[in-house]
Amino acid sequence: MKKITVVIGGGPAGISAAVYLKRFSRDVTMVEQNMMLGGQVIIPHKIENYLGFPEGIGGFDLASMLQKQVTDLNIPLVYQTCKSITKNKEGFSVLLENNEVLTADFVIFAVGTKDRLLSIPGEAEFMGKGLSTCATCDAPFFKNKTIAVIGGGDTSLTETMYLSTYASKIHLFHRRDSFRGFSSLAEKIKNNPKIQIHYSCIPVAIKGNEVVNTFAYRDLKTDKEHTLTVDGIFKFTGYIPDASLCEGLVDLDSQDFILTNSQKETRTSGLYAVGDVSSKELRQIITAMNDGAVAANHIHHTIITGS
Ligand code: NAP
Repeated sequence: MKKITVVIGGGPAGISAAVYLKRFSRDVTMVEQNMMLGGQVIIPHKIENYLGFPEGIGGFDLASMLQKQVTDLNIPLVYQTCKSITKNKEGFSVLLENNEVLTADFVIFAVGTKDRLLSIPGEAEFMGKGLSTCATCDAPFFKNKTIAVIGGGDTSLTETMYLSTYASKIHLFHRRDSFRGFSSLAEKIKNNPKIQIHYSCIPVAIKGNEVVNTFAYRDLKTDKEHTLTVDGIFKFTGYIPDASLCEGLVDLDSQDFILTNSQKETRTSGLYAVGDVSSKELRQIITAMNDGAVAANHIHHTIITGS
């Protein structure tokens, strides 16, 4: 009998799983809520550590190539938000927003992560009105302007370098006194005359009228609050997992990422978690793709051996 796999999430992990399953001649359907595949790959202006592109590649360009690979392989793609996953005697039921139910023998959960909120006044109000999480999308609006950037991770450092090709002045705020992100980029940032680093400072509020005009922050060393006049603010403060669709079916680690075995299977037989939503050491495009391939291979062998 035909065995069906539903892949939920169209980032690198989900795409890799679907492509591998298709190439194993397995029945696979992808579910993605956005109109374009790629997940967070779309966001960075340039990805320099994905192999095969020695000059780096734009996130949007890579996402477009991944999307083409899925459509060229005729992998069925349903553009819907998944509302629930339930396990029954026959397998799994995946309920979509349009009330369609996909039945599956295997589910690969590849939803990635969502933006971590700062939970400060003005964050929700000014999102898209001078507050941005996407330099590729919004950098050109800040040509010759003064901006603040929040965060000290890989994304923040990569995107700050890119933003410095547009903005005349960047105030980079990090809550500690050493960066978490790529040390090679940290050196370039320290030597970039357009960028002023504010270590040990935490965001307090985002203010403005129609659009952002002020960033308020607290200097942790002096415990004093300050305000800065800015034309815009970019927030790169990381991502958090959302495993709520798998509630009751999976175990989570202390940070709410889904625990799996080495085949990326969760504690529920037939349910796999791959990519950034799964508990792991290194969250990169290359490790997400590895996860998808490993899960697909395990499903293929489970079907072959009937175990
Ligand atoms: P991240 O590594 O979680 O860094 C988030 C940054 O925001 C950290 O510096 C953190 O400070 C800061 N932060 C978090 N909450 C904050 C708050 N409330 N107020 C102020 N600052 C706050 O996130 P990311 O840089 O987006 O990276 C996510 C994952 O993607 C990582 O695994 C990263 O390696 C990967 N990534 C890879 C590439 C690539 O390979 N090309 C590019 C980008 C990202 P602390 O440092 O004090 O925690």
